[in-house]
Amino acid sequence: MKIEDIQEWHTTDLTDSCPARVKLRLTGNINSRAPTAMVRGMLAGGALEYLHEKDPSDWGTDHAPISEAIKYGACLLRESLETDNRILTDAAEDALVKQLPLELELVLGNYARRLGPIFAKTAPIGTEVPIRASFEGVKFASHLDLVFHDPDDVFATGTESGLVVFDWKWRMDSPAKAYLARNKQFLLYWLACKYGSLLVSGAGMKDWVNMDQYPGMAWVHLPALKPYTRKVTTKDDDGFVQEFKKGDDRPLRQIVRVVKYQPAQTEAAIAAVVRKVEMFKAGFWPQNPDPVGCGICEAEEFCTRFDTVALEGDA
Ligand code: SF4
Repeated sequence: MKIEDIQEWHTTDLTDSCPARVKLRLTGNINSRAPTAMVRGMLAGGALEYLHEKDPSDWGTDHAPISEAIKYGACLLRESLETDNRILTDAAEDALVKQLPLELELVLGNYARRLGPIFAKTAPIGTEVPIRASFEGVKFASHLDLVFHDPDDVFATGTESGLVVFDWKWRMDSPAKAYLARNKQFLLYWLACKYGSLLVSGAGMKDWVNMDQYPGMAWVHLPALKPYTRKVTTKDDDGFVQEFKKGDDRPLRQIVRVVKYQPAQTEAAIAAVVRKVEMFKAGFWPQNPDPVGCGICEAEEFCTRFDTVALEGDA
């Protein structure tokens, strides 16, 4: 695809740490392999979608919902890879049948046990909810992992409208507040809930609805659902410094990492997402190598490097 032909920009295009990768991806210069890290995230997302189809009050009653959720996630993952014409690496294929189900069973079990009673006080709107929004003539589209009503703010996202958006993340590095405060993916979710539309179900059909509300939002850091593996001293959820032992649950604030933006920043937020697209349209896609990202980059074999002859991406 040519950059000038792009009709709608995805939130991933705005948040990728390397603009060069965005360009290579949009122009089809990526390999078709799905590594373990990608598979883990997709599997978790599919399993959580399944879990949220069930009443959270029933999540803790037995392990059936968890193992069924993982099986569902694996089916969804294989379908999605097939649609995208991607193939699992040998390591990912091996992980998918051995290590990942065990890892996910632990994490999903803790998700159900710890968050289920809180979700039971909220009302679901949907998972994988499509959103779209347009600012200054630039169209954006994406999906929200989980959207729900939390009128009593039981998740303490600070929502005033009661609308809440959760994004499930499985990254090894937990996000700093300084990072989340500038995260354009969350920024666009926040703006789209106020000014764009969400495709939601109602009266047996789906319709695009303008919520006209700033949502509460959180990055749900799934790896933090694993218990501590060593003794750690940190603040608990009440703000008291406490010593946690190996095997203890981590505080909830390390799992549900709230992202708050100020309505007074709306104009600057719109300018930030629109300027990024304008930068891309103007042909500015700077490489942004990083010590870990390049090693697992799907576009790496097409991207400029300086220890070889010229590559396709060098032009
Ligand atoms: S290999 Fe590194 S610099 Fe190149 S596109 Fe990928 S992340 Fe960016």
